[in-house]
Amino acid sequence: MVAWLVNGHHPVPLLRLLFLLLLLLVPAGEGALARSHGWDRDVGQRASRRLTRSERRRFTFGAVRDVQLDAAQVERRIESLRGRDGVRVNVIGRGDHGNPIYRVDIPARSGGQRSRPVRVVVSSWIHGDETVGPVAALGLVDHALKNARFRQRFDLSVLVKIDPFGTRNNPDGVNLNRAFVAGRWTAETLAIRRSLAPERGQIDLFVDLHGAGRAGFFLIRGQDDGNLSRRILGAMPTATLLDATGAQPWVGPYKLHSLGAATSNNPGTFKGWMIEQGAPYSYTLEAPRTLAPARQTAGMLRLLRSTLENTARHGRLDRAWPRGAGSVKMRGNTP
Ligand SMILES: [Zn+2]
Repeated sequence: MVAWLVNGHHPVPLLRLLFLLLLLLVPAGEGALARSHGWDRDVGQRASRRLTRSERRRFTFGAVRDVQLDAAQVERRIESLRGRDGVRVNVIGRGDHGNPIYRVDIPARSGGQRSRPVRVVVSSWIHGDETVGPVAALGLVDHALKNARFRQRFDLSVLVKIDPFGTRNNPDGVNLNRAFVAGRWTAETLAIRRSLAPERGQIDLFVDLHGAGRAGFFLIRGQDDGNLSRRILGAMPTATLLDATGAQPWVGPYKLHSLGAATSNNPGTFKGWMIEQGAPYSYTLEAPRTLAPARQTAGMLRLLRSTLENTARHGRLDRAWPRGAGSVKMRGNTP
């Protein structure tokens, strides 16, 4: 009834008055409640809607079905990038168990563009059992190499494989994504710190790729990003996004502020450390490990590309060239 009135057209002033009166009398619905609690009305909506048949076919979340890959396979792929089109491949250090930590740089190309490229760092496979990340990260590298326009707009570095040992915690029982803080540094996180700290204040966007045993893609931001996370998630079909099922906007430890978007800052995360390093935009992206593997990787890559595109277009970044900079080399990444 109320919905019909809201959507309807009211040419008669008296009817309008009656409608306003009705609004005052009708008890606060879920929408008003949601607003007063600071989460968006779309949270809790997707889960209550039945999926269409085509959505069910594409996006059925079931048991965990991880993307199958091993460290040697990924290393071969990374090594094959050496020397390709300006790509630089460096081993920035070794983990506590001897595993090489690779950094792949795809420097921006100068094309006479008016604004400087966006400096982006992507990381994946910091949790050894979350194999969707490296596939999506390497997918982004492929995209960058095929797309001249991408190279003009983004200056990209990718840390593809930080812990390939197959379990969430490393073989010593350490969660590497809590080891970016005093007292917890490991060989892996120290190598990353050494490599990225010289760029303090110059990284615009950091994205950390993960997988979770939940029913939907989601994004975790470390700090308020205005409307950016909503824009980023706008690239995904709503049926693929994580939603709350109860009256509260909580999914496990995550409080959703809009469909598929949470804010969280656990001490010692890579994302949190990048915020300390001055990155204005820092995100964790989570793919549902409960989706068919090919859909996980395709969805993750889509979400990742949307994160870059929306940050470049709508992020509050100073994109003016540094004074006197004649080329992107000025800001080009260094290993
Ligand atoms: Zn993870």
